[in-house]
Amino acid sequence: MRKIFLIILFFLTVNSSFSQVTFIKNLENQNVAQEKYDSLTNTVYFLPYADSLNTYSLWFNFGVAGFRKDTLLTFVSNFKQRFFKPNFPVYTYDHKKYFSVKSLDYGKKLRVQFLPERDTVYFSTGFPYSYSDYENFFNAHSDSENIREKAFLEYSDTLKMPYLTIGDKRYFKRGKKLIWIICRQHAFESVANYVMQGMLEYLFSKECAKKLLRKYTFKIVPMVDIRNVVLGQSGRMGLPVDLNRDWDKTIRPEIKILKNEITKTANYYRYYMFWDIHGTFPGGDIQRNFSYFSLADIDKKRKNIHKYWDCFFDFAKFVPTEISDFQKGYDGLTADWWNHLTFPNLEFSTTLETDWNVNHKFDVYTVEDYYEIGRNMIRALEKYR
Ligand SMILES: [Zn+2]
Repeated sequence: MRKIFLIILFFLTVNSSFSQVTFIKNLENQNVAQEKYDSLTNTVYFLPYADSLNTYSLWFNFGVAGFRKDTLLTFVSNFKQRFFKPNFPVYTYDHKKYFSVKSLDYGKKLRVQFLPERDTVYFSTGFPYSYSDYENFFNAHSDSENIREKAFLEYSDTLKMPYLTIGDKRYFKRGKKLIWIICRQHAFESVANYVMQGMLEYLFSKECAKKLLRKYTFKIVPMVDIRNVVLGQSGRMGLPVDLNRDWDKTIRPEIKILKNEITKTANYYRYYMFWDIHGTFPGGDIQRNFSYFSLADIDKKRKNIHKYWDCFFDFAKFVPTEISDFQKGYDGLTADWWNHLTFPNLEFSTTLETDWNVNHKFDVYTVEDYYEIGRNMIRALEKYR
C-alpha cells in the first residue's frame, strides 16, 4: 500500500509542471477540450474536437484561468490537414475588445503567444458571434418602431431561425420593393453576423426610418445554421448536405422553409433583391476576400450589382476585390436555385463573402469594420436608383 502511495507521489511530483488551468467551457460553440497545461512554459495545449464526418472545419471559443501572468502565455493545438487553420485567432478579456494574434506556426499546428494582462482570457477562432450574442443585441433593440414582425421559422422541436420584417407602417402595401437577406448558412463564418448586426443596427435606427423604409420592406433571417452555431461545427460540407448546397433538391428543413417563405413573399411584394451573407472560412482563401457573386448569371443583373457597389463606395472605405458569376460545378448551391427562377422585378441576387480577418492590404479587420460594412450596405440603398 505504502509502495503504491510512493508511486503516486512520484507521478504527482514528475507531473507537477503539468498543473491545471481552469478551462471555461460554459460558452456556446465550445468545440474544444483541454489536453494539458505546462506551467513551466505557460502553455495551454488544447484539442479541437471535430466530428470529421460532419464538418469541414470548426470554430472554437473558450476561456482559461489560472495561468501565469509573469510570462508569455502560449496556446498550441494540432489541426488535421483537411481543416482550415485560423490564421488570425483572437483573444479577449471581456468580449468587447478583441486582440488579433498571428499564428507562429504555418504547418498543421496553431501556436500563438501573448502576454496576458488579466486572470481570465477567452480565446477563439476569430471574432466569435453566438446565438446569445444575437439575442442580446436584438433584445436591446426590439422596441424599434421599424420592426413590423418578429417571428421564427421553426424547423425542429428545439431549433428555430429568427425571422424579421422591417418596414414602415404601410409595409403591407402591395407592390412595395422587397429585399430578402439571409446570413450565416455556414456556422463558422461568424464575422458574417457582425456585418448583419451592422445592417440591423442601421435598419432599427430612427435615421433609417425616414429615408429608406418608405421604399423598401426587408425580410431578414440573421442566422440560418443555428444548430451548428451552437455546436461549434463549421456547417460547411456538413452531412447529409451543406445548407448552401441544398437549394436545388432540398432535403434540409431549414432550406425548405426558407425557399417557401421567399417564394410566398415574392408573390406578394415587388421582389427586388436577394442577399446571402457569408464570411469566408477562418484563415481561408485570402485571395478572395470581400468578394461578391452574382447568383443570377445575367448581364443586366451584373450591371445592377456594379451599380449597387458603386453606391456603397460612396460611403465606405472597403473595396470588394472582385465580382464573379455564380460558381459553376457546385451543384445545389443557392445560386442554382436562383438561376432556375425568374422573378420579374429582381434587380439582382448575390452572395457576399465578407472575408475573415484580413482585408486586401492584409490589415486585420476589427469588429467595428464589419459593423461599418453592414451599415453601409444598407445606406447604399439610399443612393441606388
Ligand atoms: Zn459560406
